[in-house]
Order: sequence, then structure tokens, then C-alpha cells
Amino acid sequence: MGQRYEAFHRRSIGDREGFWAEQAKLIDWHKPFGQVLDYSRPPFARWFIGGQTNLCHNAIDRHLATQAEKPALIYVSTETGEERVYTFAELQREVVTMAAILGSQGVGRGDRVLIYMPMVPQAVFAMLACARIGAIHSVVFGGFASNSLAARIDDATPKVIVSADAGSRGGKAIAYKPLLDEAIRLASHNPARVLMVNRGLAPMDVVAGRDLDYETLRAKYRDADVPVVWLESNEISYTLYTSGTTGQPKGVQRDVGGYAVALAASMRHIFCGNAGETYFSTSDIGWVVGHSYIVYAPLIAGMATILYEGTPIRPDAGILWQLVEKYQVSLMFSAPTAIRVLKKQDPALLTKYDTSSLRSLFLAGEPLDEPTARWITEGLGRPVIDNYWQTESGWPILGLANGVEQMSTKLGSPGVPMYGYDLHLLHEQTGEEVGANEKGVVAIMPPLPPGCMQTVWGDDERFVETYFTTIPGKMAYSTFDWGIRDDDGYYFILGRTDDVINVAGHRLGTREIEESVSHHASVAECAVIGVADSLKGQVAMAFVVLKDAAAAADPAEAARLEREILAVVDRQLGAVARPVRAHFVTALPKTRSGKVLRRAIQAVCEHRDPGDLTTIEDVAALDGVRKAVVGSDG
Ligand code: AMP
Repeated sequence: MGQRYEAFHRRSIGDREGFWAEQAKLIDWHKPFGQVLDYSRPPFARWFIGGQTNLCHNAIDRHLATQAEKPALIYVSTETGEERVYTFAELQREVVTMAAILGSQGVGRGDRVLIYMPMVPQAVFAMLACARIGAIHSVVFGGFASNSLAARIDDATPKVIVSADAGSRGGKAIAYKPLLDEAIRLASHNPARVLMVNRGLAPMDVVAGRDLDYETLRAKYRDADVPVVWLESNEISYTLYTSGTTGQPKGVQRDVGGYAVALAASMRHIFCGNAGETYFSTSDIGWVVGHSYIVYAPLIAGMATILYEGTPIRPDAGILWQLVEKYQVSLMFSAPTAIRVLKKQDPALLTKYDTSSLRSLFLAGEPLDEPTARWITEGLGRPVIDNYWQTESGWPILGLANGVEQMSTKLGSPGVPMYGYDLHLLHEQTGEEVGANEKGVVAIMPPLPPGCMQTVWGDDERFVETYFTTIPGKMAYSTFDWGIRDDDGYYFILGRTDDVINVAGHRLGTREIEESVSHHASVAECAVIGVADSLKGQVAMAFVVLKDAAAAADPAEAARLEREILAVVDRQLGAVARPVRAHFVTALPKTRSGKVLRRAIQAVCEHRDPGDLTTIEDVAALDGVRKAVVGSDG
């Protein structure tokens, strides 16, 4: 770690108030804050008390004086062939219109709006429109199916849902409306209105009195004027659901002022983006990277942002770099999986286009393996910067603050603790700090910096219980990741401490998938684990005990049952959560106290030594797992 950055980081912890008061100058405040930090109720941190601001104002309105006619949102869909550039003025028009539409349906400050959308500009309009009027948006990833969506509808209790007829992937339309209708049927909460964007991709059933047509209302409100609602810094901007160890997803809740400041600061110190430049994140608006680095951060920094609907390999594996050339992209953000997909394609496509505008490629969301890091760094000839964070943090926890001081990358490491994070590696059992090169739980000593989650939506107790009580003897925030720090202060992430798996950068709770598998009438019990995969990082695999063990004896019948079980997950949670296989076993390996030994199963699947098995009740159960896996391998 360089001296300059070390001092910067030290100050961010030692003089939190002074440090963040300075960063707060990066955004516009309607009314200045009176106090930087209120930490009177640990571990809850409140930032910029009494200050009034607005995310939409900072993302759009404040840039109008200087760059109204400059690009703000660049929409590219290789799925539909649509390509459209919205200037800041045009984006404002669309957002104000959307705000008027939502307002006409009674949506106001503090009301929830659930957004279940593919990658279309209207999704961004809806997010920013909510921000403008102080409504709380909750974007649900379009890949989730009815049951996942229903659970989120019930938790967020939205007044309005904004959706579309369909998304599209690989040239194939994926209808959203039937999934949404089914989710609303399953949910106990009934949204008053559903605002539908009709892309003409899939037929839609319209529910009279509930469903509204976006284009009709857009025409009606196209000249509307909706002023920004100034919000106290700690009002809620959005909730975003994320998976954990229980089947019930948590609504990660964020504020307004702290988030805006954190993003503006990260653009300066970590991403080094400047107004007038173009930012391209290949994430999805349904994930935290999409919230922070497709929508809010680039726009707050006055940059143009690319919203891309499509895969990295269609029409060919040069598409991302073609867009870099065409829109003179300065900064790019993607996930290791996307790069591993490209690795299987013609490497000449990496250099076919002029990517000289690109200063850095940031990768996050899952471990970046060394071979992939090396391949893309060499192939592209640009710095590739790994960074580590979570839905909960909203911006990088580990990274390189090249805007403060140029720092060298280390292959396999996402970098050093970012300013604001008082990061420690703690012993799982003693809670003591571990030394360099020793494995510990990556933990943050509170208060968490601005931009991080305020609490779990509607459940302060769960926030404290989930994140702050797992490390003995200390009130420390657990990331639930194992890490190790080398002698230079660089961290390496070694995997999760809980039952969360990461499939192609998507975080999934194995509990949720297990609950879904158990919905099949023939299933007695099951365990779902993550297994290493060369492309997706991890994939889910299910081990199922049937009520009638003999049912799986016939291979044809077993195959049919497996298909059926996987289809249940598909239908309930979405293809993103579907296990690659459901293996039938006669018993699950458990401890004597009845806890499923997921890590032992995982080790067997990855052909590793399952380690200490002294607590196992029935060794034969693990042999059963081994046989099932070997049978399918061979
Ligand atoms: P999510 O909240 O869905 O973004 O998932 C966050 C989790 O993804 C973290 O807790 C890590 O387990 C993993 N993760 C994110 N970024 C990285 C990274 N750069 N290296 C290793 N793991 C990562």
C-alpha cells in the first residue's frame, strides 16, 4: 500500500467526520447537514444528519446547466436491435414524465414501487423517477420467477409495480407478464396498479382496472412538471433483496445522502471517472452493481452510462469492444464470468476494435481467478482491476484507490481496504485479529461508511442479528467471506463462511433452492450445495432423498423425476437458481445433531478430501453421495 493512500485511509477511520464532510462536497445539497455522523445507536449509523438532497437531482438536474445536450443514457439492445442515446435533457424529460405517471397513481414520498424489468430505458426512468419524488424503489432481477417475486412483493408491499411484456436473451423473448401475474396471485399483498411497458415481444393479458399502459400515460404526461422532492439524507432511497442463509431474502435498505456521497467519492478515488466521459457496466439493473454503477454513480459524476441488453457473444464475442470503440468508453465494469465466456471465443476479437479510449476494466461480483485475469489483461492491454464488495456495501470494500495514488495490482487479489472501511480479519471462534497470511473472517468494525446498508427493510433486529452477532466477543459486521492478507496488506478472498453460493456473479442462498426442491411431492428432503465450475465459478447441485426410494431405481423414471424437480425450481425461482443436477441418494450426510454436512458433500463433489468427519452420523451417507457423483461423472 502506498504512503499517500495509507494516510488517506487512516484519516477516513481516525477522523470520520472530517473525512466524509469533505467528500460530501462532491454532491449538491439543498440544505446543508448539521452533523456528519450520528452513531448514538450502534451499530446503526446515520450520515449527514439534517442535510437535504436528492439522488435524481444529483444524477440529472444539476448537470443540465453545463451538459444538457451531452449523452447521459446510451441504450443498446443487441436483442431487439434498438440503439438510442438520451441526452441529460432528454433523460430528465423521460424521468419527469415517469414521475408524473407514478404520481398520478398516488405514489408519493415513502411509497414503494417494485420494478420487475428487463434492460430497457424505462427501468432506469422508473428508478430515477422514484428517487425524484422520494418513493422507494425495489428492483427485482428479471431472471427471478413467480415465487421469488411474490416473496419480494409481500415484503416490500408496493403501491405500483412497473414491468414489461418481456425480456429477451439470445434472441429469444422471455415473457415477464405471466410470471408477474402469477406472483401477484401468490402474494398476499395486492399492488393497486401495474404499469406495463409493451415492447411488442410477447402477448399480454391485461387485467382491467389494475394494468396501465405506459405509452398511453407517457403521451398524457409528456409535458408534466414534477419538481424534485428534497429528502433528509437518511430517508430511504431503495431496497434491494439479497440472499442469505435463510430462505427469506433480506431487503437491503439504503439512504439518500450517504449513498450519493459514497458513489461520487468512489467515482473520483476508485474508478477515476470524469464528467463527459462514458461508463459501461455490463451488469443488470436487478443487481447492486446495476444500481450503483449503471444508474447512479456514472450519472452523479456527469458521465454517460451504457445500458446494454444482450450477451457478451452476440452477434459475436467482439460486441463489448465494438461498443467501447463506438461510444469511446473510458471505464468498463463487468464480472469474471463474462470474461470466462469470452475466453472460449476467438481471441482475435479482443483486438479487432480500437479500445484505446478504455482506461480500466473493473471486475467484481465473484472471485477473479488468475488465469482469467492474466488472459484479459494481456489480451486487452489495459489495466484490469478486481474489486470486492456486496449488495450490503453498495460500493467497493476492497479495491485500488488509483485516484488517490496509483497502486499496483496483484493477480488474485481484489486489493486493499477502501477508505471508510475499518477492515479486519477475525478468527471465527475467538474473534481475535489474525496475523498476516492467516485465514480469518473479513469483518468491518462499525460504523459502516456512507453508502452501506442502513438496516434490513422493516427489520432492525434482523440487521443486527444477521450481520453483527456472529463474531464472538465483538460487535463487528461479518461479510461472511473468508479472507487472508499478505505482508503488503493486499487481501485475498477465499470463499463464503455461510451457505451462500455464487453462480456467475449471482448470489444465491442454498436454503431458498432447497425449499423450492422440497416443493416437489416426491421429495422427502434435500441438500443443495455449490460446486466449482470452470465457467460460472460455481453451480448449484441438489442431493435428493425421495419419499419412495425405489422410485429412482429405474433410470428412465429417475431421469423424469429429476427433470420435474428442476422444473419446479425453474418455475418458482427462475433458471438462474436451477441446479445443474439433482442426484438421488438414500440419505443425506448429517452430524449427530442433524445438521446437513454441506461442506463435506461439496468436497466430495469437487473430488477433495471431506476433512474431519468425527461428527458424522452415518459415513455410508457420504459414500452414497460419492457414488451418485462418480456415477454421473463417469
Ligand atoms: P452480491 O451481494 O450478490 O454482490 O455478492 C457478494 C459476494 O460476492 C461477496 O460476499 C463475495 O462472496 C463475492 N464477491 C464479490 N466480489 C468479489 C471479488 N472481487 N472476489 C471474490 N469474491 C467476490
